[in-house]
Amino acid sequence: MTIDVPGHADPLRPGKLLCIGRNYAGHAAEMKSDVPDEPMVFLKPSTALVRGGGAVALPPQSEEVHHEVEGVAVVGTGGKNISEEDALGHVAGYAAGLDMTARDLQRGAKERRHPWSVAKGFDTFAPLGPIVPAEEAGLDMQDAAIRLSVNGETRQDGHTRHMIFSVAQLVAYCSGIFTLEAGDLIYTGTPEGVGPVEDGDQLEATVEGLPPLRMSVRR
Ligand code: MN
Repeated sequence: MTIDVPGHADPLRPGKLLCIGRNYAGHAAEMKSDVPDEPMVFLKPSTALVRGGGAVALPPQSEEVHHEVEGVAVVGTGGKNISEEDALGHVAGYAAGLDMTARDLQRGAKERRHPWSVAKGFDTFAPLGPIVPAEEAGLDMQDAAIRLSVNGETRQDGHTRHMIFSVAQLVAYCSGIFTLEAGDLIYTGTPEGVGPVEDGDQLEATVEGLPPLRMSVRR
């Protein structure tokens, strides 16, 4: 899948989806997890990506798929070992996103100390809303309400000021490990209030200043 990124004439193909776990203390607490002292990074395959207006497909392997609303940073200019000071210059835009999670499979993986790739990586488990240019007036990814509703009922109601690691810190940290490339996506973590979705649900993920991401859920 390709995405249109503001400032790039040609569509970009996201090579990797970098996701940050436990980046809000409230979510770490509801998962009975410690707050990390450095970013917790995991990856999703690009085949998990689905654009807003589409559907999340519930996989037969899971009985408990959860929503996690997240702000997403879209890499415009790649690089390695990017400094925190330069980091936001490498971000082309932002979007609302969802880190769909097979919570039952994740729980089993945690118990067995296995990685989260299966619980997090199914097709359609990385919905991405419309991308807004980073420089657009009024958009501050560290000062935005972040919400998720299911069938019109608010389930998550957080604020990005409560992120443990900022977008700039995450870009710098991730680029010290992985070469960032244009089109890469960074899912920046979810606030508290995660919960299950069911066949037929309508999800609306919003990050203040960005267009809403609407998804349906189907079995
Ligand atoms: Mn997440």
